[in-house]
Amino acid sequence: MCGILGIIGKDNLIDEIVTGLLTIQHRGQDAAGAITFGKKFNLKKGIGLVRNVFNKKNMARLEGDIAIGHVRYPTIGTYEETEIQPFYINSPYGIALAHNGNVINYRELKTELEKKELRYINSDCDAELILNVLGAQLSRFGKFNVNNLFAAVKKTFDAIQGSYSVISIIGENGLLAFRDAHGIKPLIFGRKENSFAFASESVALDILGYKIINDVLPGEAIFIDRKGNFSRKKLTNSFHSPCIFEWIYFARPDSIIDRISVYEARFRLGKKLAEEIQKQNIKPDIVIPIPDTSRAAALALAEEIAVNYREGLIKNRYIARTFIMSSQSQRISAVRKKLNPIRNVIDGKNILLVDDSIVRGNTSKEIVNLMRIAGARKVYFASYSPPLRYPCLYGIDMQIRNEFIAKEKSIAEIKENIGCDKLVYQTMDALLSSLQIGNKNEFRFFCTACFDGNYPTKVSENKFKEIEKDRIESKRHIQQ
Ligand code: SF4
Repeated sequence: MCGILGIIGKDNLIDEIVTGLLTIQHRGQDAAGAITFGKKFNLKKGIGLVRNVFNKKNMARLEGDIAIGHVRYPTIGTYEETEIQPFYINSPYGIALAHNGNVINYRELKTELEKKELRYINSDCDAELILNVLGAQLSRFGKFNVNNLFAAVKKTFDAIQGSYSVISIIGENGLLAFRDAHGIKPLIFGRKENSFAFASESVALDILGYKIINDVLPGEAIFIDRKGNFSRKKLTNSFHSPCIFEWIYFARPDSIIDRISVYEARFRLGKKLAEEIQKQNIKPDIVIPIPDTSRAAALALAEEIAVNYREGLIKNRYIARTFIMSSQSQRISAVRKKLNPIRNVIDGKNILLVDDSIVRGNTSKEIVNLMRIAGARKVYFASYSPPLRYPCLYGIDMQIRNEFIAKEKSIAEIKENIGCDKLVYQTMDALLSSLQIGNKNEFRFFCTACFDGNYPTKVSENKFKEIEKDRIESKRHIQQ
């Protein structure tokens, strides 16, 4: 999961880029970068939060009327500066590019580019790979025009497997955006006077005052030139299957993705989960959300079962999201540093904790334990998504098959493992119907692969093993 933002249309866009990146900082806290184009490319990237990377001095040299920015959460590559996006190449035209997603056939494409095109990929970051695939295709079409550009993007779609939402500066020509054939990663665009902006989440456009036009469609490319001429073309006909986890966990609740409100989706998930709570005859004294993602669902659930909603866990906002942190040892210590229970709310009560999901179970176990230490009589635990069992190959840090607690364990065993008195999961039907009710685009599918193993793209067993091996190696590298 990363966040991307691109703007074209007026001078000195860097202020807007940095402000916009701050609004999507939750999508990646490892590194940030931006590149602008006026008469030449101006680049700044660094490790850390947006506020640590950009300052008045470096922003002053990031001049130009086209700009892209990126916040990074690595699923491939290491934590080196060389891995930070955006990337650029000088030929043809000069192209800069940032993306959100994960290229599955990375190794094959890298070898092919090196052998056939004599293009060398200097990082392990798949954005550099997409950039070079696009660059190689554009070189073949020669003279720049929109038709040639879209033809080159179509060839890029044909070559790359996986998920990718891309924003790219095409030298002095303009700003390009495209979204993979299944639209797995979000990408939305809007307009403010003569400027256009693309972003991973609508919240960035809201904050910057852009009026939302539409989501970039799956398999669609959009190009805006420096005079403001707008072109868009759908290049593939595959079915749309956006990542359902955006609504469950990743996106900010004030975002709207593919015309579905994230907040409302979570609210409906809470209402649906209440049905499971009632079926199991669970009667808590209070409902407590595990902050921050699960607030809307916990509130809806509490309303539905007519039990008080209370804030019983306070989050230290200055500790990174546990999910974003890469090593298990970091995660365990971070839970305690991040969350503190309010004893007066919990002491002597039967508590129903609501969380978005359970991945490895360690965080849930620590939180249940915190509740007991704070004096809870009974601790019930409810996840508003179904059991996670399969790795994500599309850019989320859940790529190793044996790290899922639900992979081999039954719900009763998971309950024992995390130490709660009752454990409730959302059903798959309830998850899908909660999303589909709010689906104004009326697409039927979502990517639900991490729950049910139905991947929208073809993936061979060897590819699973290869991705798993790469991830284990990169985790080892991080821990050294
Ligand atoms: S596998 Fe899960 S996390 Fe990954 S894209 Fe699909 S729904 Fe999202």
